[in-house]
Amino acid sequence: MHINEIYKSVQGESTFAGLPCIFVRLAGCNLRCSWCDSEYTFSGGKKMSVGEIEKAVHALSCKLVEITGGEPMLQEKSLLPFIDGLLSGGYTVLMETSGERPLANVPKSVHKIVDVKCPASGEGKSFHLPNLDALTPNDEVKFVIADRADYEFARDFVRQHSLDAKVNAVLFSPAFRKDAAPARDAANCLLDPQQLVEWILADGLSVRLSLQIHKFIWEPLKKGV
Ligand code: SF4
Repeated sequence: MHINEIYKSVQGESTFAGLPCIFVRLAGCNLRCSWCDSEYTFSGGKKMSVGEIEKAVHALSCKLVEITGGEPMLQEKSLLPFIDGLLSGGYTVLMETSGERPLANVPKSVHKIVDVKCPASGEGKSFHLPNLDALTPNDEVKFVIADRADYEFARDFVRQHSLDAKVNAVLFSPAFRKDAAPARDAANCLLDPQQLVEWILADGLSVRLSLQIHKFIWEPLKKGV
């Protein structure tokens, strides 16, 4: 597999936010989201065997592992056996995915955190709709929201597909500036979280505000945290 980095930090998003977690970041992505904070994963990466990755994970001594990218499902053929190994080793496995690749083959006990890209990302039509049938009550669906049009897209998608009844959590996350200042504050969000909360409350949505807490703990552009 092509691996960009493996490290331990705290989980920054999802209902697992704040928990110590090992991150296995795979290289390569087939999308180009306008606000992407992981462009350094688009090329390169170190080639590692499944055994070498397992060894690196075991050495970090933590039973929560997130597989992320890039887009992990581009390496599905090697990724799925790796996931099976983690599950049989007693790990809790999270996987962040863009939602563009088919997810039907991912083991049901993986906690998938599935993006539905909104229009301002420039990839608003990328979601693979049959993935709605691959969602389980373990999963979370995430919308990264940059403006009012994105919010309305996300709100209407949640309602149209009754998403809050299908998954563990629906996450609404303000998009973050690619040129974020070093200050660890909400001024780096493209959409003010307070504004997003006001819209959520006004519409009575059963969704969870999700801030990327690692960008409030460390400088927003710091890698490997
Ligand atoms: S899917 Fe993720 S890694 Fe790929 S361009 Fe979008 S934000 Fe970046």
